[in-house]
Amino acid sequence: MIFETHAHYDDEAFDGDRDSLIWAMHEHGIDTIINVGASLRGVRETVTLMERYPFVYGAIGVHPDEVGDLDEEKIAWMRKLCEKEKTVAVGEIGLDYYWDKESHEIQKKWFVRQMDLAKEMSLPIIVHSRNAAKDTMDLMKAERADYLRGVIHCYSYSLEHAKEYMNMGYYLGIGGVITFKNAKKLKEVVEYAPLDYLLLETDSPYLAPEPYRGKRNCSLYLNYVAEEIARIKKISYEEVVETTKKNAQKLFGVK
Ligand SMILES: [Zn+2]
Repeated sequence: MIFETHAHYDDEAFDGDRDSLIWAMHEHGIDTIINVGASLRGVRETVTLMERYPFVYGAIGVHPDEVGDLDEEKIAWMRKLCEKEKTVAVGEIGLDYYWDKESHEIQKKWFVRQMDLAKEMSLPIIVHSRNAAKDTMDLMKAERADYLRGVIHCYSYSLEHAKEYMNMGYYLGIGGVITFKNAKKLKEVVEYAPLDYLLLETDSPYLAPEPYRGKRNCSLYLNYVAEEIARIKKISYEEVVETTKKNAQKLFGVK
């Protein structure tokens, strides 16, 4: 059974079939899902989802594109939600210099503030970082994020950076991109990284793997990701599924 570590089932892409899709997960081999908050609305919906489905857990956090909506009052509200039993992480938080919706200073400020929240609540972090390799690493080091645990979601940087993150105790989130023919750098990272440092994720509804590239993604396609990791590492599909599940259970404290 697969542990899905990163999905956004609150997204409007699922408005038509959310309930039937999520209830069908178990019979198709997906046994645990972390729904990840990305906006204030996403955080609210994440709580609704984790309270509705026994196998759905939640991450509470605001994506760098959305941090313009944050203030201390909102952080206090999120802090309360972090106390809930099924909240297993702070995320997704980080820096996004690709979309660049907020200034770098504002993005850094709220990344640090949300890392502080994770420290305070003793929760791992789910890090989103796009086109911001150096600033993310520098900020995490300055903030002693090696004392936190977490995952670099949708890992997209170099092998050197991957080594550094693993040395800090961080996992690498691997999703649909690994199945793309042009994902040469990521395939090298996956080949090198011990399986003990990898997590399976989709980022649904985004980043569907081949053969569904460009379509709406969902956790049911994770088998394509696990198969590609198995092929690259020359190990069995079952080993990929079992070990990544154990990794996720350990990181997020979910049985
Ligand atoms: Zn995401």
